[in-house]
Amino acid sequence: MWPFDRKSRRVRSSQAYWLLRNGIGDAAPRSRAASTCDIAIVGAGITGALVADSLVSTGARIVVLDSHEPGQGSTSASTALLQYEIDTHLTDLTRLVGAERALRAYRAGVDSFAVLEDRFADLLPMADYERRPSLYLASDEKAVAPLQVEAAARRAIGLHCEWLDGAEVTRRYGCHTPGAVLSSLGAQMDPLRFTRALLAGCLRHGVDVRSRARVESVDAAGNDLALRLADGSVLSARHVVICAGYESLRFLDRDVADIDNTFALITAPTDEFASLPLVWESARPYLYMRTTRDRRLIVGGGDVPCDTVAARELLLPKQTVKLAKSFEKLFGRPLPPVEYAWAGSFASTRDGLPYIGPVAGMHPRLQFALCYGGNGITYSV
Ligand SMILES: Cc1cc2nc3c(=O)[nH]c(=O)nc-3n(C[C@H](O)[C@H](O)[C@H](O)COP(=O)(O)OP(=O)(O)OC[C@H]3O[C@@H](n4cnc5c(N)ncnc54)[C@H](O)[C@@H]3O)c2cc1C
Repeated sequence: MWPFDRKSRRVRSSQAYWLLRNGIGDAAPRSRAASTCDIAIVGAGITGALVADSLVSTGARIVVLDSHEPGQGSTSASTALLQYEIDTHLTDLTRLVGAERALRAYRAGVDSFAVLEDRFADLLPMADYERRPSLYLASDEKAVAPLQVEAAARRAIGLHCEWLDGAEVTRRYGCHTPGAVLSSLGAQMDPLRFTRALLAGCLRHGVDVRSRARVESVDAAGNDLALRLADGSVLSARHVVICAGYESLRFLDRDVADIDNTFALITAPTDEFASLPLVWESARPYLYMRTTRDRRLIVGGGDVPCDTVAARELLLPKQTVKLAKSFEKLFGRPLPPVEYAWAGSFASTRDGLPYIGPVAGMHPRLQFALCYGGNGITYSV
């Protein structure tokens, strides 16, 4: 089911917290740049910004195009829990794709933290980047045994995690659960600030970032690829990378993801949860939460399919109450007052893995960075 009507093309609702916090800023001036480039990147969210950054040192002429303003797609709606853990357990992924690929996927998640912290040491503080452990709760008694097996499988490939029984989870974190896997590696950030900082760096290195430049189609044209824009202009590029988030699917000739909606709320500042790890759970769809630098609590989940943006917005109050109740059940205490709530599109793939690279049967220099799933940002890195 398509979660946003094709006309309004809104992948998130208007109260997305990071956008409220950081503001929309000035609309970028209209670019009157060249009609050819070496690499065109479609989409200036966190994925497009990271891809542009990684290519800057090649000296290629890079153009980044976004149909709106950079970072204002799902990046500004993201709750930005950064986890090495994939929505698909290591044990299940091993069954689905084999031990070697499953291990590589989990290792890539782990390595993404070193990549982030080494490459962007100067940018991360301004994006409120903070290491936080990740607590994966058993949603019920039935989940205990599989999660213990999962913890052992992770430890067997060198990942640092431990099993905590219910009493220990309550003692440390105040929530009530039959048990949980605690991973020492995890982090949280302000994804919009990070994306804007990345793009500012790219601009300084000569990358041409164009706002309000909607790409309608990408076709082979001689040796190059022709990007046809909504204003009628054409950009010719040697390579194209599609980083258009959930809207990328329109550039593909096949279905690779299911799109649902996820809901999130943010509370007033509170001192009660200052040392809360990233929290998520084994139920699907799952509840997830984190804190912010300014002492707020973000709670997300309640994923459901919706036919239209209007239907999603209508559901927002109901899903917000549901999230608050889930929190209250877990912690046995009321949620601090909710200040904002928002919803956004959310894609998942069959095995929980992203699609990164060219696509069989399509142009070899047309590549995709479809970082779908609960840890989309880790995948983008
Ligand atoms: C509520 C919510 C909570 C989430 N929580 C987490 C989380 O805790 N951790 C996590 O890792 N991930 C999370 N995600 C997912 C995460 O937000 C995404 O993985 C990430 O933001 C995707 O970034 P992106 O740059 O690929 O896409 P986007 O940020 O959507 O950027 C795509 C850009 O492409 C542009 N675009 C689209 N079509 C075109 C076109 N035709 N021409 C030109 N430009 C185009 C859009 O305007 C947009 O700016 C969450 C998502 C939501 C909605």
